[in-house]
Amino acid sequence: MTILVTGGAGYIGSHMVHMLADAGERVVVLDNLSTGFEWSMPKGVPLVIGETGDQSRVAALIAEHQVDAIIHFAASIVVPDSVRDPLGYYRNNTMNSRALLEVAVNSGVRQFIFSSTAAVYGNPEKSPVGEDATLAPMSPYGSSKLMTEVMLKDVGVAYGMKYVILRYFNVAGADPALRTGQSTLGATHLIKVAVEAALGMRAKLDIYGTDYNTPDGTCVRDYIHVMDLANAHMAALTHLRGGGDSATFNCGYGHGYSVLEVVEAVKRVSGRDFHVELGPRRPGDPAMIVADSARIRAQLGWTPRFDDLDLIVEHAFAWERQLANLRKDARAVGRHT
Ligand code: UDP
Repeated sequence: MTILVTGGAGYIGSHMVHMLADAGERVVVLDNLSTGFEWSMPKGVPLVIGETGDQSRVAALIAEHQVDAIIHFAASIVVPDSVRDPLGYYRNNTMNSRALLEVAVNSGVRQFIFSSTAAVYGNPEKSPVGEDATLAPMSPYGSSKLMTEVMLKDVGVAYGMKYVILRYFNVAGADPALRTGQSTLGATHLIKVAVEAALGMRAKLDIYGTDYNTPDGTCVRDYIHVMDLANAHMAALTHLRGGGDSATFNCGYGHGYSVLEVVEAVKRVSGRDFHVELGPRRPGDPAMIVADSARIRAQLGWTPRFDDLDLIVEHAFAWERQLANLRKDARAVGRHT
C-alpha cells in the first residue's frame, strides 16, 4: 500500500518524503511545483506534476498506486499574501482540499493527515494555547485551513474516514543531512529571511512591529524544527494504522521566542552581523502564539529531538549556504533550481 503526499516537493513535504522513504514506505508525490522542487525529493519516489483539485488525475493516481493514506501538505502558506488575495487562498487551500477529500472518499482512502496551522487560533486568549481553545483566525490563510478542518470532521462522521489534523506552529530548520531544506524563492518566513540576510543575500531584515504587548514589543512565536514536525506525521500515521481515533494536535514545543530573539540567534549562530530595520506591523499577525503540546506528547508519544533555537538556526543556515552553492552550480550549467 502507498502513501500519497501532496506538496511532497515543498519544504515540509520533502522532509516528510525523505523520512517515509528512509522508513521503507511506498510513497507517491503529487505537486504542481509552484514552490517545490523535484530535486528536493529522494531519488526513485514517483512524482506526479499536477493539481490536488484535478479530480480525475488524482483518482487515477490513487488507483494506480493503491493509495491507502494521504498526507496533504499542498497549500499556499503566506499570511500577508492571503490578506491581499483571500479568494486565491480559498481556492488553493479550501476548494482544492474539498476536491481531494471527495476523491479520497470515493476511492476508499481511509486515512488522512492534514497540515493545519496555529493561525486557526488567531490571537489566543491564553498562552500556551491548547487544541480546545476558541478558533478565531485573523487571516484568510487561517480561515482557509479552518474550513478544511471543518470539512474533515464532517467527512469523518459521514463516511468513517479517519484523520489527524496537525496544527503547525512556526516551522524552521532543515534536514541535518542537508538533503533538503527551505528552498522557496522569495521566502517571507522569519528564520529563512534572517539567514538570507546573514549570508548577504538581502540588504536588511525588516522587523514588522515593535509595539506589541509582548516582553520586548515584537511578536512571539513557537519555532519547531521541520524534522520534529515530520516525526509528528510519522506518529500520526502509526496512530491511524493502529486503529486510532481521529484527532487534532498542536505541533510546537511549548515555548516562544520574540522576533528580536530570533534575529539575535541568527547573528550569534552564523557569526555574521546584518542590518535590521524596525518597521510597522504587518497585517494579520497575532502578538503571541505558543503551543500547548501536551496532547501530542501524551497521545502519540511524540518526543522532540531538536527543541533548541540555536540548532534550528544552525541547520537553516547550513542549508541556506548549501542552497546558494547548488544554485551557483546550476546557473553555471544553465539548469533551473
Ligand atoms: N517577521 C519579521 N520580519 C520578516 C519576517 C517575519 O518581523 O522579515 C515577523 C512576523 O511579523 C511575525 C514573525 O516574524 O511576527 C513570524 O513570521 P513568519 O512570517 O515567519 O511566520 P507566521 O507567524 O506569519 O506564520
